Amino acid sequence: MSDIIQLLPDHVANQIAAGEVVQRPASVVKELLENAIDAKASHIKLIIKEAGKTLIQVIDDGMGMSVTDARLSFERHATSKIKNAEDLFQLNTKGFRGEALASIAAIAHVELKTKQEKDEVGTEIRIEGSEVVSQEVCVTPKGTSISVKNLFYNIPARRNFLKSNAVELRHIIDEFHRVAMVHADIKFDMYHNGSEVFSLPITNYRQRIVHIFGAKTNEKLVPVEEETDLVRITGFVCKPEFAKRTRGEQFFFVNNRFIKSAYLNHGVNSAFEGLLKEKTHPSYFIYLTVDPKSIDINIHPTKTEIKFDDEHALYAMLRSTIKHSLGQFNVAPILDFNRDASMDTPYEYKSKMIKTPTIEVDRSFNPFKDDPKENTSSSSKSYTSFKKEPTGGWENLYAGLETPETSSKSLENDFTSIEFESSEVTGSLFNADQEAELEHHITYQLRRKYIVTTIKSGMVIIHQNRAHYRVLYEEVLRNITMASAVSQQLLFPLKLSFSKQEMQILKEVQEHLENTGFVFGEITDTDVSISGIPTATTESEVSVLLEKLINDIEQEVPDSGFSLTDLLVRSISGSIAVKTGIALPKEQQQYIVNSLFACTEPTITPDNKPTFITLTVDDIDKKF
Ligand code: ADP
Ligand code: MG
Repeated sequence: MSDIIQLLPDHVANQIAAGEVVQRPASVVKELLENAIDAKASHIKLIIKEAGKTLIQVIDDGMGMSVTDARLSFERHATSKIKNAEDLFQLNTKGFRGEALASIAAIAHVELKTKQEKDEVGTEIRIEGSEVVSQEVCVTPKGTSISVKNLFYNIPARRNFLKSNAVELRHIIDEFHRVAMVHADIKFDMYHNGSEVFSLPITNYRQRIVHIFGAKTNEKLVPVEEETDLVRITGFVCKPEFAKRTRGEQFFFVNNRFIKSAYLNHGVNSAFEGLLKEKTHPSYFIYLTVDPKSIDINIHPTKTEIKFDDEHALYAMLRSTIKHSLGQFNVAPILDFNRDASMDTPYEYKSKMIKTPTIEVDRSFNPFKDDPKENTSSSSKSYTSFKKEPTGGWENLYAGLETPETSSKSLENDFTSIEFESSEVTGSLFNADQEAELEHHITYQLRRKYIVTTIKSGMVIIHQNRAHYRVLYEEVLRNITMASAVSQQLLFPLKLSFSKQEMQILKEVQEHLENTGFVFGEITDTDVSISGIPTATTESEVSVLLEKLINDIEQEVPDSGFSLTDLLVRSISGSIAVKTGIALPKEQQQYIVNSLFACTEPTITPDNKPTFITLTVDDIDKKF
């Protein structure tokens, strides 16, 4: 058999390499921004059209390239940043593989203009699919401008694989953030389709973070600072009460490079132990500086994972430094006040004398509410009134506290934590009229998690959170799609601030939100004023609700209008549904049971999880 192995032509090799380096427009953005930083730019402009599908341009005022370098920069393995293998262990630059420009030029139309300070004129090169189309002398300011047009024009499969503009733009913004966050000493501007998205002046880390994530961020940040032989740690963690339901803002930078590390993330989380509400994640912006020799960056093609020599020591140091900061800035006491009752152990109440609360606060009472509201459908009325005290709001803390030993500790003992172990248990299980309709049944709450009741054939165990989620979902969906939503006017409009891109998302779903009962006043780039909210929510829940909604949309970004509605409704009803761990008075238990079985789809949550199980008398008989 004759020889069959041959060397691949350069342009094919480049296209293959491009597959690794360039997954999507955001990868190009990352490489070009990093090159500009390596060129010591002090001002970098990023210009994007159609989420990078038609244009990605980066203009810097860095050192520029000579004519020869300009041409060479597009060759594979052409780099000015390392000379030999040893250099790999003391990297001070972002790039070092010499692969990026060659890869990008293989799959796009690229235009480069560059000039060094000492030169009179610059060089302009155009390349399409690795082929140099033209090279000319040009007039251009000091620095480099690279335009990448029609990405993947010669690989339709890749081009078709790209996500919607919203998704691709979000990836680009993520990369932009990761780079901008570590280079506060560089001015960054970003434009999309002709309008400014970010304009970040030269400043310090803290202000840079605030410029990116919005003015409200400033008060949330707690500085973290430590220096040892092994590592220098600086940066910020967010106060625990601002922890998010999604892992949105978690950043590690090692030697000015954004990295991902599940292990170090665990270290940070463990420093927050006991301070966070269930299922929330702390935000953090941590900058680590280590000896370049002690890390290996060469481990991952896109370089977001690196290997540390002494990861365990780093973990321990990170944890103790953050713990120290949280303690020093007195973050813990504030937290006690916002404490989630579900985190308290129920057992301590066993020996305590429990008084029935005598103060009832109707949180939904609004003197400015018009009477006509009373005429709304009975179901929406019932869920409005049901929201009276579902999450044990702070007013509840004062109810039932006539006992003299009102210490700060007992403030936490909000009465929603009382376990109902009353005689009614026996009552409902053995004396209930088996023939009665469901709504006449006695219900019993089990472990502040399940509602138990009987039916003709046996018993039902209902998951309180999931059931309420289903009920609200159908209710909110009805409002959105058919009826005009009922909203409660706020006495004073609520002002919330978000980052620019969060606001962008909010604007995209504004109309949908209005259909659920939100009434928006003035909306700027970063602030929104809200004068009305859906009846199912309370004022204090709104900011968490919108934050979660934005996060959910960021993560799923559905393309079709229908699924966006579904996501929105799921997010809203999910965040206001009564949680596990909340004690429910009898009427609320019965309300959930009755409205669940009035649902079109009572058996599962909108996320397809079972809402209840039944245990027939047969099932029970078998156990005996
Ligand atoms: P790497 O960054 O890994 O060296 P690249 O393919 O990204 O590889 O770039 C190749 C070379 O082109 C760089 O080493 C650098 O010398 C030069 N270069 C790229 N972009 C710029 C820029 N914006 N300003 C000056 N030189 C640049
Ligand atoms: Mg590079």
